[in-house]
Amino acid sequence: MSQPSTTTSAGPEQGAELAAARAAYEQLRTRGLSLDLTRGKPSPEQLDLSDALLTILQPGDVRAADGTDCRNYGGLQGLAELRAVFAGLLDVPADQLFACGNASLTVMHDVVAHAMLAVLPGAKQRWADEDEVRFLCPVPGYDRHFTICDRFGITMVPVPLTGEGPDMDVVEELVAADPRIKGMWCVPKYSNPSGESYSDETVRRLAAMPTAAPDFRLFWDNAYAVHHLTDDRTPLLPVLAACEEAGHPDRAFVFASTSKITAAGAGVAFLGSSPANMAWYARLAAAQTIGPDKVNQLRHARFFTDAAAVETHMERHRELLEPRFAAVYEVLERELGPLGIATWTRPLGGYFVSLEVPEGCASEVVRLAKEAGIALTPAGAAFPGGNDPRDSQIRLAPSFPSVDEVRSAMEGVAVCVRLAAAERAAA
Ligand code: PMP
Repeated sequence: MSQPSTTTSAGPEQGAELAAARAAYEQLRTRGLSLDLTRGKPSPEQLDLSDALLTILQPGDVRAADGTDCRNYGGLQGLAELRAVFAGLLDVPADQLFACGNASLTVMHDVVAHAMLAVLPGAKQRWADEDEVRFLCPVPGYDRHFTICDRFGITMVPVPLTGEGPDMDVVEELVAADPRIKGMWCVPKYSNPSGESYSDETVRRLAAMPTAAPDFRLFWDNAYAVHHLTDDRTPLLPVLAACEEAGHPDRAFVFASTSKITAAGAGVAFLGSSPANMAWYARLAAAQTIGPDKVNQLRHARFFTDAAAVETHMERHRELLEPRFAAVYEVLERELGPLGIATWTRPLGGYFVSLEVPEGCASEVVRLAKEAGIALTPAGAAFPGGNDPRDSQIRLAPSFPSVDEVRSAMEGVAVCVRLAAAERAAA
């Protein structure tokens, strides 16, 4: 993403633009809008796509392929037939993949908690016994990853993204020098919020880089593995295989879920890693639960009999998402393109558009939008501590509102960007 231009000296043209922008904003406020572009939630129409899950199991249909009665306790690893469907999609061997509860965030939180309280394979001691634990956080990133770090007192070290994943020169230097760096958040495909995917070279370097910490882990959150928005399916190098090849078989924990495939909140989460890591996890998870919700897993296994069924289902999602993203681009191009005061991403998948406004303007845009009835993700949310050093990045989440609502919201956002930029130029 190129940097938007900023104007710094006020003059008659800036005065005229400021007056025009103020007038447009006053008109926007009179519309009494109530629109929300904050969180990447599926729309009701997307959720409808999986409504068969509500009735797919009939009384008497309660057994998995191996005869397991899914209503009863047990089966910590989750149903084999569901793991078989997602193993290929996530590039994790089925016997190294667990099907867990309803949310991958829970699993991420728990893996960090377990690493705090139990010695990871290859570690000298528990993370709780370290003086300080640090995680690399590619920015802009996913705010809930940062919340997990906050909760465990983990110091977050921001690293820039390049469009092909994190800046690997920076990452390699940091992890080689600092044994306190124990982990790194990665959203390797259609990243939240930048939309970028990690190149093969990025994945290889992450897998191969020497780390000062013997127990360094990649927290590989592949939340958008199958969430394409174009025919370009952006292949991602399998991280577990890359790590093994590079001589670091235990380096990555892979997370994913069906939250944005079936029901967000009532889907199935997955965790995959090396045999040693999964044995470690299984021992600790066994103290938390006698087993996951296998009835929900059976529903999902009936709904998706193979990986191709998942891909076909994702095409239906794409049909609903594409016009919403198109509405975002159409309005931004029309309203802001000619002004040259903002840039934005055009992701090939995922749930977000990242909007870059002139430096120092993002908080003001979000404030103005709120006053006009348009809720945006708080400025800075994609940065550790909520601190965007340039105050220029805004995450747009167009999935939930209708296409008309997205268009109205974006027209409003464009007015707010214009006013914030004009105010700044005139200041
Ligand atoms: N990871 C990323 C990168 C996400 O964007 C989201 C949803 N916003 C999640 C995880 C949440 O996944 P889950 O519902 O499985 O907890």
